[in-house]
Amino acid sequence: MSSIKLRGKMPALFADLALVNGKVRTMNPAQPTAEAIAVGKDRILKVGTNDEINQWIGKNTKIINLNGKTVVPGFIDTHIHVADFGRFLMWLDLKHVKSIKELQSSLKERVQKTSSGKWIIGRGWNQDRFEEKRLPTLSDLDSVSPDNPVILYHESAMMCVVNSKALEMSHITRLTPASMDGAIDRDQKTGELTGIFRDSATDLLWKAVPEPSENELLDATALACKKIAAAGVTSVHWMVLSPVEIPIVEKLYAQGKLPIRVYLIIPVNLLDSVAHFRSTHELSLRIGGVVINADGYLAAKSAALFQPYNGEPQTSGTLLCTQEEIYSAASRILEAGLQPVIHAMGDRAVDAVLTTIEQLTSEASGKGISFRIEQAALLDKMLIERIKKIEVVVSVQPCVAASEFSVWSASENLGPLRARWLYPLKTLLEEGVRVVGGSDCPMEPLSPLLGIQAAVAREFFPEERISVDQALRIYTSDAAYSSGEENIKGSLEEGKLADMVVLSRDPLATAPNKIGDIQVEMTFIGGRMVFKRKNLAS
Ligand SMILES: [Zn+2]
Repeated sequence: MSSIKLRGKMPALFADLALVNGKVRTMNPAQPTAEAIAVGKDRILKVGTNDEINQWIGKNTKIINLNGKTVVPGFIDTHIHVADFGRFLMWLDLKHVKSIKELQSSLKERVQKTSSGKWIIGRGWNQDRFEEKRLPTLSDLDSVSPDNPVILYHESAMMCVVNSKALEMSHITRLTPASMDGAIDRDQKTGELTGIFRDSATDLLWKAVPEPSENELLDATALACKKIAAAGVTSVHWMVLSPVEIPIVEKLYAQGKLPIRVYLIIPVNLLDSVAHFRSTHELSLRIGGVVINADGYLAAKSAALFQPYNGEPQTSGTLLCTQEEIYSAASRILEAGLQPVIHAMGDRAVDAVLTTIEQLTSEASGKGISFRIEQAALLDKMLIERIKKIEVVVSVQPCVAASEFSVWSASENLGPLRARWLYPLKTLLEEGVRVVGGSDCPMEPLSPLLGIQAAVAREFFPEERISVDQALRIYTSDAAYSSGEENIKGSLEEGKLADMVVLSRDPLATAPNKIGDIQVEMTFIGGRMVFKRKNLAS
């Protein structure tokens, strides 16, 4: 109270940072736009006109002139596999390679930087882009990497090429049989292995690759966090896949190498092993959610459907647990004060999950916890009605949704009548359902701007396109709500954390199919600049 009185008498409090001359999209309905922001320590002091913010500027205030650029709240990615992303970043990136010669020189460069005998993994090549118009071979790789075992994955990840050292380390010879649904290519004349492995035969090699050391994982994950901040993401809902990720994130935090805020979502089998961690409720690192898997994935035809997949009357996916099992796991999660995050992709799985949630709503709301369904991909009007009624948060990844149509051909595999209700984002939002957005990086691109583009410019069933404002909300204010953090983040308003992103252009004034091209110029987390685009004049 005393500080409030003091401020009335003399303007002793000045901002540490002021962003002026901008176009601020606050995501606060009470004050949607502004010109400037004043920040003190890690919080927003004031959002307003340049004149209003001027009053907060003292001699020690750092002033950034935005020159008309747009500021939005820091993006929140509600579904990202940070540790996996880190591992991918360590791999040799072959996406842009246009010939086998180029592939060899990239590999050669990597060999020179790698100690002898250490595995080199790469990904992203595609022979259709090669000048030579042929698959790379064992001998192409041997000539530049005789001592380091090498596996280079095709961009589809369904095929790879390896060198002789990799075969030796994996104990694979010309006599090794491929498994039922895999293939090992051989030279038609000599019968010798060509180095190409397909489908499940690629597992024979992967098994031989040693797990990265803790230090390697720490470095990889730290790099991933930097890239995430550079994409304008200030908070992540980190989907944990392996128990090794928990000590990694704890160490990064302790070492001050975690620039982004982290809400960990762990698999249910780790619930008991993280009790020590749960007691801390830090602003920047906490365990928040626990995943229960109710079914599989559409693309693998393991998502549980009421009616079979088109053309396969025997296949309708399977529920991975009974309703009783979902109920008891969700109860345990609520008891621990955490958020049940239930993966349910098919309509039959969503129905089973909703039935469970309907029995637990009063327990959850008593604790102030919202249930969250991951994907909720295939819906119908009845299911949407139930989701709305019990206020379940629906978590989607718009780039995954786009791939489901374009890569998996959802319309063919489900039939147009059902595909119409695949990721019906506009209907969900119009019904008042809280939808939150994520990337599923590294399987899909990291950029939230690409995710926004995918949601507003979707090509399949365009009647389910959402507006840019709605898309921004699913990555900011609504995402903050889903983790119970709407009071501290998700919009730019006084008292909230100064998590902000400066964009090269205003997404609301950009053609929908160009939103992904907008550049992130600066990222601030708690008022601290954690990223600034290279060559950006200040
Ligand atoms: Zn995922």
